[in-house]
Amino acid sequence: MEKYEILENIGVGTFASVYKAYNRETNETVALKGLHVFDKFEGVAGSIIREISLLREMKHSNIVRLLDVAVESGTNKVFLVFEYMDVDLKDFMDTRSETAKDPHLIKRFLHQILSGLAYCHSYKIVHRDLKPQNLLINSSEKILKLADFGSARPVGVPLNKYTEGDEIATPAYMAPELFNYLKYSTEVDMWSVGCIFAEMCNHEPLFCASDEFGLIDKIFSLLGIPDKQIWPEVTEHCQFLGIAENSPPKNLAEVVPDLEPAGVDLLSKMLRYNPRERITAFDALNHPYFAGLGGP
Ligand code: ADP
Ligand code: MG
Repeated sequence: MEKYEILENIGVGTFASVYKAYNRETNETVALKGLHVFDKFEGVAGSIIREISLLREMKHSNIVRLLDVAVESGTNKVFLVFEYMDVDLKDFMDTRSETAKDPHLIKRFLHQILSGLAYCHSYKIVHRDLKPQNLLINSSEKILKLADFGSARPVGVPLNKYTEGDEIATPAYMAPELFNYLKYSTEVDMWSVGCIFAEMCNHEPLFCASDEFGLIDKIFSLLGIPDKQIWPEVTEHCQFLGIAENSPPKNLAEVVPDLEPAGVDLLSKMLRYNPRERITAFDALNHPYFAGLGGP
């Protein structure tokens, strides 16, 4: 730890404090994510082991690079040392609102989110907590990277909400199949990407809700109530169907008025109820919306 000089606190996330720091040996600026090693439920916290082991494997220009793991002697704290990024997407939208609304930049950022995600999904890793706070930006080069793999899991590991001991995702970005926690896969990330895409256009969350009931209400009122024809497993996933008022789907183009038609089409394919019908990260990268992108 001695080689790192802590400069300032740059983020307080759900589980960690993040500091900007200076590596005296390499003269690099880095980000230190401090985590408590011991968890009263799990012993050595499973989320730390998962985050380290997954990040060590992942090498992609749109995934934040883990440089080192440092232990603070005499405490039970471990620091994950990451490349330093200036800002997360949430702060970028809040503080550089005009720049962040540039349609070409939205396209570039979305393409980078999908590139990082296609890479994760090719390794059968589900991120599970994609949201603007977990997407980091180098603002001068306009490079975006996926971060915060503390909730990520390999596909196919069945989960139970009650034994897992943590919430699956931030409600506003949570895919409808997560209302039944036992069955889900990489498609949940694409739903979150759809929510983030709409938020980049409007600068407000697509579904603003603090719990599942509020969320389902917002989703149904935008996309209509799913029936067995569009989503055969609907009753397995949505126990709340009985309480919802029927309402027809809204016109998505009116929800994101500044988005070009090809973007609206891509967004509609990300927000499909049936996970099997939802566009994959790989296919989304080849969608006509990105035709005019050019360059990285
Ligand atoms: P948590 O699991 O607690 O949510 P995160 O990894 O998401 O932790 O980090 C919390 C916040 O710290 C992020 O939302 C971001 O604002 C900031 N942050 C995290 N990593 C970096 C980094 N490498 N460079 C700059 N800021 C970062
Ligand atoms: Mg986070």
